[in-house]
Amino acid sequence: MNKIDVDQMENQKKTAFKNIQSGSKYQAGLVIRPIENGTVIDHITAGEALNVLRILGITGSTVERISVATNVISKEMGQKDLVKIENRELAQQEVDRIALIAPQASINIVRNCVVIEKSVVSNPEELVGVVKCPNPCCITNANEPVSTKFYVRQSVLICSYCDWHIEKNIHSYIL
Ligand SMILES: [Zn+2]
Repeated sequence: MNKIDVDQMENQKKTAFKNIQSGSKYQAGLVIRPIENGTVIDHITAGEALNVLRILGITGSTVERISVATNVISKEMGQKDLVKIENRELAQQEVDRIALIAPQASINIVRNCVVIEKSVVSNPEELVGVVKCPNPCCITNANEPVSTKFYVRQSVLICSYCDWHIEKNIHSYIL
């Protein structure tokens, strides 16, 4: 290969990369087709899309029509995941759970092909009945009629009853 070919190839690579970066032809939204009605969860932390589905109770045998894109190039985040769910709008409790594992996620509600509501998830200061306490001796694990309650301090959850700290694998404790 001579020098000119190599230069040309480099230029093509650069242009393709620029396109991806600017989102022109390879825009994340186009990775999977637009939906008519439902919810688009965008800006999910890369690698968490399947946990988002789990939180929403979506398994291989549920009836929803879902599109999932993982490790999509994102200008803001480097990489992100994306989930589209047709004919379903999320409840606030579901949004709170998603916030725990994807703090940058944005929720778009689509009706008749128009985004009618766009919201960014926000981590609540307290979570009641959302996360199970990992401490077997915690009163919330003692068959008492007590809802779990956690304080949220940055990315750490602290049980209000036994002071147990959850710092990692939060998704595996979500009720
Ligand atoms: Zn506890």
